[in-house]
Amino acid sequence: MSSFLVSAHQDLVPYVPGEQPCDKSYIKLNTNELPFPPSPLAQRLARLQAGELNLYSDPDALILRETAADVFHIDKDEIVFTNGSDEALNYALMAYCDKDHPLAFPDVTYSFYKVIADLNNVTYQTIPVKYDLSVDPDNYKNLGKTIFLANPNAPTGLCLSVQDIEEILQTNPDNIVVIDEAYADFSDVTCIPLIGKYDNLMVVRTFSKSYGMAGGRLGYIIANKKLIADINTLRNSNNPYCVDRMAMMAGVGALRDQSYLQSCIEKIRKTRQDSAKRLKELGFEVPDSQANFLFAKHPSYPGKKLYLDLKDKGILVRHFDTERLNDFIRISIGTDEQMQVFFEALKQLLEVNHD
Ligand SMILES: *Cc1c(COP(=O)(O)O)cnc(C)c1O
Repeated sequence: MSSFLVSAHQDLVPYVPGEQPCDKSYIKLNTNELPFPPSPLAQRLARLQAGELNLYSDPDALILRETAADVFHIDKDEIVFTNGSDEALNYALMAYCDKDHPLAFPDVTYSFYKVIADLNNVTYQTIPVKYDLSVDPDNYKNLGKTIFLANPNAPTGLCLSVQDIEEILQTNPDNIVVIDEAYADFSDVTCIPLIGKYDNLMVVRTFSKSYGMAGGRLGYIIANKKLIADINTLRNSNNPYCVDRMAMMAGVGALRDQSYLQSCIEKIRKTRQDSAKRLKELGFEVPDSQANFLFAKHPSYPGKKLYLDLKDKGILVRHFDTERLNDFIRISIGTDEQMQVFFEALKQLLEVNHD
């Protein structure tokens, strides 16, 4: 740290992303990327932009908003695009949190929420999840705070029902409820159809997971027009060109290719089901994930050791070094071939480490 850094930022603890190692090639099951490339149409439309990178992108992202409006059956003024959904979450926090509107979120969830709360000097309350790691919707009723909920939640993959979320929306009419749907495409639940019904609902989504575009940095918010106008004010005060030309057209291609999206989702859901079954057969406890990852705990193999032993064998999973979660590893769903290699390594480790 230099002596020039202002005091407000001296204690910041930045988000710790999953490893993106360059030392050797791993089977990468640690950051919930899709194991498949983006849609061929997305790739083609992005490539066509390369020769036009001398020109700024359209700050209104009109073609992208129109395409999305078609796909999601919404108005083009009910959506705004950002540089990944992390940026969208930050704008939502800036727009709807201050000292009179503190933030609340589960104690087990996406760890980026507390990072942006600290960055913006917003106080937050973490609400304990239940013994089985699920979010208790009753804890969020009549809360009187801005609420962030990842649904499905990370890193558990557990999902609240739309009805649960509606009750939270109804009992917090004076507060914004942000539903982070980063993994919703892999589940049966989405709150997008509710945006016309609740003026306090904001749905945040990303192309990083189901669309296989984590490296393209494209996220979006769907909400009623007034809320979208708020976010546009902040976005255009910070970085109006946050969606670059290649990402914009990749997004258009990805949205137009819904059959590719559906085939990827189907493959992941099937592999998720098979993998959960195999993990349970090996003695793991596995919450019922609706996302593209599994959170798993072995009764006698400590999470950290398992993570390190798998890494030794060239397989990366995610381990969280917190008291509540350190018995678990989080395994992103890869291709069937990748999962086969993972399970072979896992079986070997379990045999060696048996009693
Ligand atoms: C991956 C993830 C995001 C955001 O990812 P971006 O790549 O910034 O779009 C947001 N929320 C959750 C819960 C995530 O897991």
